[in-house]
Amino acid sequence: MKVYVIGAGLAGLSASVYLTQAGFEVILFESAGHAGGRCRSFEDQHLELEIDNGNHLILGANKDIFSYLSLLGVDIDHAFRILPPEFHIVDLQNQFVDGINTGNARIPWWIFNKNQRLRNTSWVDYLDLLKLFFARKTSAVTDVINTRKPVFKKLIEPLTLAIMNTPANQASAKVLATALGRIFGYKNGFLPFVSQQGLSKIFVQPALQLLRSNKVSIFFNHMLKELIIDQEKPKLIFANRVIDLDPRDRVVLAVPPNIIQKLNFPTIYPNEYESILNGHYKVDLNLFPKINADIPKMIGVIGGLSDWLFIKQGMISTTKSAANNVDVTDYANKNWVNVQQTVQLLYGITLPEFLKSRIIVEKRATFLQNPHNCFNNRPEAKTHVPNFYLAGDWTNTGLPVTIEGAILSGKSVAKLIAQECIGQ
Ligand SMILES: Cc1cc2nc3c(=O)[nH]c(=O)nc-3n(C[C@H](O)[C@H](O)[C@H](O)COP(=O)(O)OP(=O)(O)OC[C@H]3O[C@@H](n4cnc5c(N)ncnc54)[C@H](O)[C@@H]3O)c2cc1C
Repeated sequence: MKVYVIGAGLAGLSASVYLTQAGFEVILFESAGHAGGRCRSFEDQHLELEIDNGNHLILGANKDIFSYLSLLGVDIDHAFRILPPEFHIVDLQNQFVDGINTGNARIPWWIFNKNQRLRNTSWVDYLDLLKLFFARKTSAVTDVINTRKPVFKKLIEPLTLAIMNTPANQASAKVLATALGRIFGYKNGFLPFVSQQGLSKIFVQPALQLLRSNKVSIFFNHMLKELIIDQEKPKLIFANRVIDLDPRDRVVLAVPPNIIQKLNFPTIYPNEYESILNGHYKVDLNLFPKINADIPKMIGVIGGLSDWLFIKQGMISTTKSAANNVDVTDYANKNWVNVQQTVQLLYGITLPEFLKSRIIVEKRATFLQNPHNCFNNRPEAKTHVPNFYLAGDWTNTGLPVTIEGAILSGKSVAKLIAQECIGQ
């Protein structure tokens, strides 16, 4: 028997890696000329820099990411820089730098120390977060959280956007609670891991290397166009090849929900999306030793055109989540003014004009994670079609739509196939 995996994003790569480890013969097909899907880096010709297709943040709590990377032999200490648990939040409207220092303890003692919590807040305000854990499946974050308190604007709303890429008045309170439970459930769960090598070198290339060394056939530029599943002889139809499936073969569809829809595969799927807008600015940071010494740095921004600012080697990147309604007219220049203000407030330095910029809007960055989509439109890995399985960040992992979810979905589908095939 063979297992055909369709889609070489992180879910497809994870499924292929875990299936190969379990001894299956895996054949991987990808429509693009490269692997990694939404989580990859590439050489940008205009900036003349390698950039990530979006600034990806990983937290200490993402245990499935770390076990996948260990299996690939990735040196975690080399791949990431672990930032201290001190988060700067620059308030552009009120022109001051705020922040929290969560420390490393599992119990959030920091809320009792006024030097570690947000300005003008009391420890009682943070108890609002507990309400999320008692929320109903139908509740959005703002149904249970008091939006008038500063703790909402400066902590809960940015966290919701960063974790769920969905506005707080729509985001599922229960899924956010699951994510926070995992973050606070582990020692160091809150620690941000920022990639030092680019996403592809960490998540994609080592996986392809492991698969190739296990003789997995990988076909790029192979778009699955049609599925024949209702006949005695099921088929996978690509533009340039047709595969007749043997009755024992298995197929893992590790493609996004809009492709599942195009393929007319019989399953539930979410059909609403949110975009993410990234601004990448080339800057000569060598002129500013104070900033250069602080790289990599991640700063939360309130009251500007972006939510996060990442200072990296030779560049500054910004991220705006839930960006469906953002006006992109002259965005690079307008957003740069916010970057300059942020840097001025934090370092007391006036940045000159950027050298070059690139704005990337990923239209279907994630599905809209409202209660309806989270609880009614996420399918299980096992489908009603014999021998066909689903993987991907959008399937029912119980987690928000993230790398952790994508990798977990691939691992789970591999486990399921292994269990079902025992004895065959
Ligand atoms: C800008 C941005 C920022 C993000 N930030 C974060 C973050 O900070 N932290 C975090 O954890 N997550 C983040 N994410 C989410 C994360 O990138 C995704 O959850 C993850 O990469 C999804 O992996 P996947 O394999 O499920 O899907 P995809 O990456 O979409 O992979 C699907 C693959 O299938 C291929 N494919 C599609 N159609 C076909 C077909 N017909 N035939 C063959 N192949 C096909 C695609 O080309 C693609 O390679 C971010 C996403 C974006 C876009």
